[in-house]
Amino acid sequence: MNIHEYQAKEIFRAHGVPIPPGEVARTPEQAEEIAARYGKAVMVKAQVHAGGRGKAGGVKFCKTPAEAREKAAAILGMQIKGLTVEQVLVTEAADIASEAYVGIIVDRATKKPVFMVSAAGGIDIEEVAATTPEKILYVPVDVRYGLRSYQAMQMGFFLHEDVKRARAAARIMGQLYEAFMASGASLAEINPLVLTPEGELIAVDGKMVIDDNELDRRPEIEALRDDSSEEPSEVEARLANLTFIKLEGNVGCVVNGAGLAMATMDLVKYYGGEPANFLDIGGSSNPEKVVNALRIITSDPSVKAILFNIFGGITRTDDVANGIVTATKQNPLKVPIVIRLTGTNEEIAVKILEDNGFAAMTDMDAAVQKAVQLATTGGAR
Ligand code: GDP
Ligand code: MN
Repeated sequence: MNIHEYQAKEIFRAHGVPIPPGEVARTPEQAEEIAARYGKAVMVKAQVHAGGRGKAGGVKFCKTPAEAREKAAAILGMQIKGLTVEQVLVTEAADIASEAYVGIIVDRATKKPVFMVSAAGGIDIEEVAATTPEKILYVPVDVRYGLRSYQAMQMGFFLHEDVKRARAAARIMGQLYEAFMASGASLAEINPLVLTPEGELIAVDGKMVIDDNELDRRPEIEALRDDSSEEPSEVEARLANLTFIKLEGNVGCVVNGAGLAMATMDLVKYYGGEPANFLDIGGSSNPEKVVNALRIITSDPSVKAILFNIFGGITRTDDVANGIVTATKQNPLKVPIVIRLTGTNEEIAVKILEDNGFAAMTDMDAAVQKAVQLATTGGAR
């Protein structure tokens, strides 16, 4: 789950990270009022779940409250990477002597949280990693012991020669690590961590991604969710208890089990197609889940063919067949469908499907090939 900059900053601040004061505005007038209260230059910053807001014109420096109102009027309603800006953060502007990057991600290879720090901050860290990898220091953390002070100091000195500044940076690393661990995050990032001309370190940007599997035991983090900033089909799927991720292709996939879903997407690509989504209807699917899955998939205009791939174990294939029949009666399909199912109650499922005018296949390769071909050429059911 993504959260907004202002929310990530509140979490960071609660763990001691120095963050300039800021408040959220939903109208230009609110932005002006906040800026007037601070009585100094402010930044007006688009709050959307996207990086690169600065480059997109969503981060503006404002000298006066009137300017804050003008800039907020321009930024509110703006589209950044397909997302509409509905709120801005109005925050005291910092003077910048230099910008560093500090981030923590969960590294699958070492199975540890890994710090990435670089004095080349402010810009895309991906670009730094690609062109000047020696400018990034990677420090894995053993979660049994937490971030050790020598590691924090090593990172502090990587960013600043001056021992006082290195110590201040090291303290911030520790605070960021605490915020990361306490929130069930998969990513926590300060870019840039700014050095002011007075020699102070402050975080002027903050980003956090929360591991969805951590949300059940962290209602206070779940409460930070902003549906309006998420892909609508993914929101709908989450509410229907489906694991769904929208992709760019045209073969809509409905599969039971994450492993089979991955294998199905691999096979779609193997036969020259592109999956339109990852969708796992789960182990104990009832017809209702299938109805929801089909509604979500068919509402995507780029889907040119639908592929069901069901391996019946706990999942009863007759439940899935009933779901397909119910869903297509409610909303007749406009694109061809290929149904492969095998396993529990297969004979009953095939009969239900055939009685309702659907063909059923049992061979996975053949079904995937057919779906890819139909998505490419079109064709009636
Ligand atoms: P992003 O583009 O989405 O990463 O948004 P950031 O919050 O990182 O802002 C982008 C850039 O705007 C930063 O790298 C800074 O150069 C600049 N910026 C952000 N906050 C301030 C600030 O308080 N003062 C000044 N002078 N520049 C800032
Ligand atoms: Mn940034």
